[in-house]
Amino acid sequence: FWKDLEDTYQSVLSAPSFDAWIKTTQPLKLENNQLWLEVPSAVHKDYWEKNLAAKIVETGFKLTGAEVMPHFVVTGEKETMPVQEEKKAPVTQEKIAEHGKKALLNPKYSFDTFVIGKGNQMAHAAALVVAEDPGSIYNPLFFYGGVGLGKTHLMHAIGHQMLQNRPDAKVKYVSSETFTNEFINSIQTKNSEQFRKEYRNVDLLLVDDIQFLAEKEATLEEFFHTFNDLYNENKQIVLTSDRPPNDIPKLPERLVSRFAWGLSVDITPPDLETRIAILRKKADAERLEIPDDTLSYIAGQIDSNIRELEGALVRVQAFATINGEDITTSLAADALKSLKSVGSQNHLSILQIQEEVAKYYHIQLKDLKGKKRVKSIVVPRQISMYLSREMTENSLPKIGAEFGGKDHTTVIHAHEKIQQLMQKDPTIQKEVGEIKNLLNS
Ligand code: ADP
Ligand code: MG
Repeated sequence: FWKDLEDTYQSVLSAPSFDAWIKTTQPLKLENNQLWLEVPSAVHKDYWEKNLAAKIVETGFKLTGAEVMPHFVVTGEKETMPVQEEKKAPVTQEKIAEHGKKALLNPKYSFDTFVIGKGNQMAHAAALVVAEDPGSIYNPLFFYGGVGLGKTHLMHAIGHQMLQNRPDAKVKYVSSETFTNEFINSIQTKNSEQFRKEYRNVDLLLVDDIQFLAEKEATLEEFFHTFNDLYNENKQIVLTSDRPPNDIPKLPERLVSRFAWGLSVDITPPDLETRIAILRKKADAERLEIPDDTLSYIAGQIDSNIRELEGALVRVQAFATINGEDITTSLAADALKSLKSVGSQNHLSILQIQEEVAKYYHIQLKDLKGKKRVKSIVVPRQISMYLSREMTENSLPKIGAEFGGKDHTTVIHAHEKIQQLMQKDPTIQKEVGEIKNLLNS
């Protein structure tokens, strides 16, 4: 039965809608003409009940001659979501004469290029609803979550979709900085009227990273009035932040409570499967030939930030081009090696290395950095230089300077010396390994 339903929906819905609503839904059971479906969020449930459920009854009747009743269970639902009921009929829009108002949207950030995964499916669903039916269901719509997880992307996608449905709609996207700067400018140039017109005559206002608005009192005041005007006119407002409204320090209570009138959705980091899907989509868009296991490898290396994930792909691609090689897993490993080492060694200083080595060999730090030429000190000193070069990003002259003002050639020499010693002498090799482990722990 579900298969037939899926086919029905596939034929009536656009591909993005099908992906958003049907693919994310799991049939649980069909019993006594009661169909139980599991959906991933309250937004999905809401949408099903309002827009899709009728088809179940219709198709059910066609197939079974009986009236099939759908029920929706939200995955892992403990409490009902703060979803606002449709409270007022949307005001009929007067036709807005001005066409194609510059919305400053990034053409790459559309629903088509957005990959749906566990961490973002509710945000994506809410974005779709708002784009199709702005100003009436989730207003304001508030996305929050860490850096590089797709908040800005979804915001732009809403703008694109709305302009596609209504090319004469007025869409305005701004970062909080732009909002602040334009507001301050308008005061200085006595153009407050113009500023208000710009912000209050829109159908969709997108304000990105509003955590940066907090603490700026006059700007917050202006934003508050902008918000109220738009809200009262049933104009859609979409906001993003790195954290939920009530966690933004110094955000006035009256704004926090207004944000709660709509829907807040968090976006969490993508799981491995989603990261692979994102890379696959990117690779296909750029017509890159990359084997599946290589994509999995890259996706396994970077697990929290999608912007970094994309950066890794660019890096691998550049590495392949420069070396004139095909993209393989071992090439990807090479390309990403230095990336990883920068990340993990950033926190290590030359002094930490010196202290660890001095402790390890029971010698004084000042001797290690000094000029004594006895072997029991020279070797640890050279090991410290070697490790400083291997494990930190410091330049050779900088390393030399940290050892009582030695020349950079001394550092090169020490580095070579230890490399040779480690090959010849298993004891040295073991000791260096142990110190490295101590430093890494
Ligand atoms: P945020 O605003 O949350 O910091 P962005 O929206 O700027 O993050 O996203 C960072 C990058 O990752 C962008 O290039 C965006 O296109 C991409 N991205 C984020 N989420 C997805 C996704 N689900 N599918 C495809 N690309 C994504
Ligand atoms: Mg952003």
